[in-house]
Amino acid sequence: MEQRNSELRDDGTQASLRRLPAVDQVLQTEQARGSIARFGRLAVADAVRRTLAAVREEVKAGTSPPSMTVIAERAAVLLETAARSSLRPLFNLTGTVLHTNLGRAVLADAAIEAAAMAMREAVALEFDLATGKRGERDDHLRALVCELTGAEDATIVNNNAAAVLLVLNSLAAGKDAIVSRGELIEIGGAFRMPDIMTRAGARLVEVGTTNRTHPRDYADAINDETGVVLKVHTSNYRIEGFTREVPAAELAAIVKGKGVPLVNDLGSGTLADLEAFGLAHEPTVREAVAEGADIVTFSGDKLLGGPQAGFIVGRRDLIAQINNNPMKRVLRVDKIRLAALEATLRLYRDPDRLAERLPTMRFLSRSADEIRALATRLAPALQPTLGAAFDVSVIDCQSQIGSGALPLSTIASAGLAVTPTDGSGMRLTGLSAALRRLPMPVIGRVERGALILDLRCLEDEERFLTNLFGLPAEMGRSTEDADR
Ligand SMILES: *Cc1c(COP(=O)(O)O)cnc(C)c1O
Repeated sequence: MEQRNSELRDDGTQASLRRLPAVDQVLQTEQARGSIARFGRLAVADAVRRTLAAVREEVKAGTSPPSMTVIAERAAVLLETAARSSLRPLFNLTGTVLHTNLGRAVLADAAIEAAAMAMREAVALEFDLATGKRGERDDHLRALVCELTGAEDATIVNNNAAAVLLVLNSLAAGKDAIVSRGELIEIGGAFRMPDIMTRAGARLVEVGTTNRTHPRDYADAINDETGVVLKVHTSNYRIEGFTREVPAAELAAIVKGKGVPLVNDLGSGTLADLEAFGLAHEPTVREAVAEGADIVTFSGDKLLGGPQAGFIVGRRDLIAQINNNPMKRVLRVDKIRLAALEATLRLYRDPDRLAERLPTMRFLSRSADEIRALATRLAPALQPTLGAAFDVSVIDCQSQIGSGALPLSTIASAGLAVTPTDGSGMRLTGLSAALRRLPMPVIGRVERGALILDLRCLEDEERFLTNLFGLPAEMGRSTEDADR
C-alpha cells in the first residue's frame, strides 16, 4: 500500500512536470509582455528560465504547478529585485547625522543642481573664458575658499586623507614629520596617521607622551631634517585628565623662528560658527588659519556639508609646491564635485540662511521639541503596522554629529523606541531586518533591547509612512514572519 502510493505520486509528478509551459509560451503572456517592455526580451527570457527551473524543483518536492501567469509574475519579481540598486536611498534614523557608512553629508539643492548641470553640459573646467587659454580647475573655487577661510591660497583633492598624504609627500618626503604622540590618530576605514606618513615618504618623529606634550618637546625635535610639524585635530576621541597639548597658536610661534611649516589637519573643520546653531564650539578653518598654521586640511563632506573632497589651504608658496607634485594629478577632483562644492561654499556667504539651505546644518540645528512633535505624530501610525507584538513609544534621545566632529558632545533629540512586547531579541532582529528590506530601507540603532529610530534626519513624513506599507502584513505575529 505504502509502495503504491509513492509510485502514484511519482506518476502525478511526472505528468505535472510535462505540463509545465515552455519559456516561449510564458513570454506570450500579458504579464511577460509588460516585463519585456521594461527590461527587454533577453532579460525576461532568462528570468523565466530561472523561474521555471525553480518551479521544476518545487513540483518534484510535491507542490502543485503554478499557472503561466504566476510564473511570469515570479519572473517579474526577479527582474525588479535585480534592477534595484544596492546604492538606493534610505532613511538614516541612526541619530548620527554625518554617518560615514551612510554617505556622510546630504547635499543642498543648489549643489545638486550644479552637479547635474556639470554632468549634462560641457563646462569651462580648465579653460579661461576671458583669455581663451588653458585655465586651472582649482580656479573655480580658489577665491571663494580664500574668502571663507582667510587663507592666501587653496587647492582641492579627492578627500581629506588624500589632502594629508599630498601635503606630507610634497613638504616632507625624505624628511622628518614631527607629531605629538597624543595626536597619532586612527580614523575609521584604515586611515592611520603613521601609515599615511610612511606612504607619503616622511619619517615619523613622535614627540611627547600619549597624554602630555610640551612646547620644548617640539622645539627640541626640530632640526635640519625637519620637513613639517604636524598638528592633528583629535577628532574622534579626547584625552582627558592629566593632559597637556600645545595649542596651534603656540606651536606656530615655535616653528616660525625655525623656518619649518606648520600643518594643521582639522578633519571636520567647519566654516561656520557652530555656536550660532546651538552646538558646541568646533575649531573653524578661519581660526586655524589665523592661529598661524602654514597649511590647514579639512574634509568636504563632514561639517562643511558638501560632496567628498579634501581642502588644502594656506601659504601661497607651499600651495604652489603642492600643486607641482605629480600626485596632485592623481588625487584631483572631477567637474561634478567641483560644481557641487562651489554651490555649497556659496551658501556660506549667507550664514543667516545656512540652516535653511544646507541639510547638514538644518539637521544639526533642528530642535528636540520639533523632533518630538514629529515622533508624537508618527507613533500612532507605526503602532498598528507593527501589531501587538511590538510596543511603540516616543522617547527623548541623543544624536551625534558623526564623522569625528565633537565626539563627546551629543545633541538632545527625540524619536521612537520599538520594543518587542515579549522582550524577544530575535523578534527585534527580525524587525530591523524587515525595515532594511523596505523599498526605502529604514536604518535605526538597537539599544538596550529596543530599536531606536532617532527622527532628527527625517524630513519627508509622508514618504516614511507610505514606505511602511511595504512591511509584511501583521509584522508582529511571529518571529518567523518578521524574518521572511
Ligand atoms: C576625517 C578625518 C580625516 C580623513 O578625512 P576624509 O575626508 O574622511 O578622507 C583625516 N584627519 C582627520 C583629523 C579627520 O577627522
